Amino acid sequence: DIRNNRDLQETEREFENALRPLSFSSFSGQDKIVENLKIFVSAARMRGEPLDHVLLHGPPGLGKTTLSNIIANELGVGFKITSGPVLDKPGDLAGILTSLEPNDVLFIDEIHRLSPVVEEYLYSAMEDYRIDILIDKGPSARSIQIELNPFTLVGATTRSGLLTSPLRARFGINLHLEYYDAETLASIVLRSATILQIACAHDAAEEIASRSRGTPRIANALLRRVRDFAQVKGSGEIDKDIAIYALEALNIDRYGLDEVDNKILLTIIDKFKGGPVGITTIATAVGDDAGTIEEVYEPFLIKEGFIKRTPRGREATELAYTHLGRKRTEKQSS
Ligand code: ADP
Repeated sequence: DIRNNRDLQETEREFENALRPLSFSSFSGQDKIVENLKIFVSAARMRGEPLDHVLLHGPPGLGKTTLSNIIANELGVGFKITSGPVLDKPGDLAGILTSLEPNDVLFIDEIHRLSPVVEEYLYSAMEDYRIDILIDKGPSARSIQIELNPFTLVGATTRSGLLTSPLRARFGINLHLEYYDAETLASIVLRSATILQIACAHDAAEEIASRSRGTPRIANALLRRVRDFAQVKGSGEIDKDIAIYALEALNIDRYGLDEVDNKILLTIIDKFKGGPVGITTIATAVGDDAGTIEEVYEPFLIKEGFIKRTPRGREATELAYTHLGRKRTEKQSS
């Protein structure tokens, strides 16, 4: 039922917001990015100027929204949030831009999904803090110029490959978020457990972390599900046994791979004898587009050693075969 569904999403959102770090000091991982951002933020503060526009790219759930919020907090300025698909008409963008106070941060999520018209308007806003709005139609049509307060645009995208070059060129700071290692994720799980007032053992947090696909959003969501099991089936405290029991019951892959990950691996192994096979061919077989496979799924599979990139295409590794319980057959030589 739709209403229930919406309620569910609402609680998910509240849950995410409750766990969102608000300062650099409570944000774990992405050390290089944070180190650099701290310097850029202090410099902008010292000069009393807006921070350069920032582009954050990387797979979903790695902290792009969180970081942009932190940037605003650390700059001590206001924060407004919107997204590419929501900014339908130039007027929508003008409305939000004219509401910004000096040096505020405007966060545009999924910035690769801006309509071309809206994107045009964004160029002069980013460059000169100015927009030209066309009013009226026909012979009385004229454009008026609106001066904006200086601001910082933080754009986020999972698909940086889809960004146009004029837009990309207008970001002074360009940062790529990487998947988190298990240790950092475990510390994020423990921090979340503390906020949610759940007792969670260290080795249990590690177990959750190792199955979270390198992604804080997934780690937090799994913590929440495991808590349910601990309350109903256990003592209410999360220890390693109950964590493993819950994760098995939830059908969470031992390596944290999701359905699409497994589909990609099975495609390479079963349909293409383990590869090498081109990314477009894989994408067609999986039913997703090549760009998404390349930017969202493949980096994790490569990082964890399930796929190898070769000049002739992608190959499944020994680990992929063992994980999926497949036997490597002799390649036909023809
Ligand atoms: P994105 O915008 O990249 O999709 P979010 O910023 O919305 O990801 O993060 C998703 C969830 O993961 C949020 O609840 C956030 O609190 C948590 N999270 C992300 N990165 C971190 C981090 N480095 N430390 C702690 N929690 C994090």
